Amino acid sequence: MELTFTGIWGQERALDVLAQSLRRGAVASAYLFAGPRGTGKTTAALAFAKALLCTGADAVPCGVCRPCKMYEAKSHPDSVHVHVKDSLVHLIPDFTEEVPELRGKPPVKTLRVDEMRKIISALSMKSYMGGRKVCVIEEADSIMRKETANAFLKTLEEPPGDTVIILISSNPAGLLPTIVSRCRQIRFVPMPPEKLAQLLEETLGTLPNEALRLARLAEGCPGTARGGGMEKMKEIDAAARELTAMLPDLAPEAIIRFAERWKDRRIDIPALLERMLETLRIAQHSALSVSSDANNDIVRTYNGIPDERVMDGFDAILAARPLLVFNPNVQLYLEALLFNVQSIIKYGYPLGNTTD
Ligand SMILES: [Zn+2]
Repeated sequence: MELTFTGIWGQERALDVLAQSLRRGAVASAYLFAGPRGTGKTTAALAFAKALLCTGADAVPCGVCRPCKMYEAKSHPDSVHVHVKDSLVHLIPDFTEEVPELRGKPPVKTLRVDEMRKIISALSMKSYMGGRKVCVIEEADSIMRKETANAFLKTLEEPPGDTVIILISSNPAGLLPTIVSRCRQIRFVPMPPEKLAQLLEETLGTLPNEALRLARLAEGCPGTARGGGMEKMKEIDAAARELTAMLPDLAPEAIIRFAERWKDRRIDIPALLERMLETLRIAQHSALSVSSDANNDIVRTYNGIPDERVMDGFDAILAARPLLVFNPNVQLYLEALLFNVQSIIKYGYPLGNTTD
C-alpha cells in the first residue's frame, strides 16, 4: 500500500515514516506532527487521515473510493477534525450543535471541555463505515487548555477501537508532557533556503532573485513562502526603500523610532538589510538606472552624494549584517547601524565603532 502526498515539500523523512507504517500495518494510535509553521504538517495530517480511512487497494488516499469522497466533502462519519480558522476553533462535525447551551454560540479560541467530551464520546462509538476512526486536532498546544488536555489523556493513551489521533503543533513545548509522551512524534523541518528557492522557481515560476529572498524570509518553510511570504516581503521591501530613500536626511528621533518599531522583528532584519543594499545599489548607479516612479525618490535623494560614500555605506551594511546574531538587542543594533550608515553617506566618515 503506497501513501501518496501532493503539495508537501521537503518532508521526505516524515512522509516516509508515515508511508512505512501504513505499508507495514503498524499504525500508531496517537501521533504528534510537530514542526514550524508552513512546513506542511496540516496538509500531511489530512492526507494521512484520508489514507487511514481510504479503502483503495494500491495508493492511498486513492481519492475515488466512497470514504475518500466523503472525507473530501467533510462528511465522513468516522472523522473528527478540530481546525483553527481566523484564530477560532471550529469542529467538524460541529458537536456544539448537540450541546443545547452552546448551540448557536460563536466559536472561541480554545477547545471547550464539553466539546472535548463530545469528541471523546464520538470516538468511543462504533465505526459507522466499519473501518478506522480518525481524529485530527490542529494547533493542539494553543487550543487545549490544561483542563481540556487532561480530559483527553485517557483517550489518547488508549484510543477506543481502531482510532487514530493526530495532534498538530508548531510549539510542542506548549503541550503537557503527559500528552507528548503518549504520541509518536513526526518531525517536520524547514528546507535549506536554496532548495526551497529552486522549487519556487521550478513550480511557481518565481524569478531567481526573488525566490531566494522569499525562501530566506520564510526561513525555509514552504507554506510560508507560498502563502503570506510574498505579502510580508512586499511590506519589508517598501519599508527598506522608504528608509533608504530618506536616510541621509532622517532626524535622529526618526531613526530611533524606526529601530524601536523593528525591535521585535529579528527574523525580518536580514531581509530588511538585503533590501537596503539593493536600494543603495540603485542609488549608486543613479546615472545609469532607468528612471521610474519607484526609483525617482531614491535617485533624487542621492543625487549629488559622491558614489564612494554610497559605496562605503553599502560596505558598512555588509559588514554589520553577520553581527546581528551576536546582538541580543535588535533595537540597539539597528540604531547603531543606521546612525553609522547615515554618517558615512552624509559626511563621508563612520560614526565611531559600531561593529562591536
Ligand atoms: Zn480512497
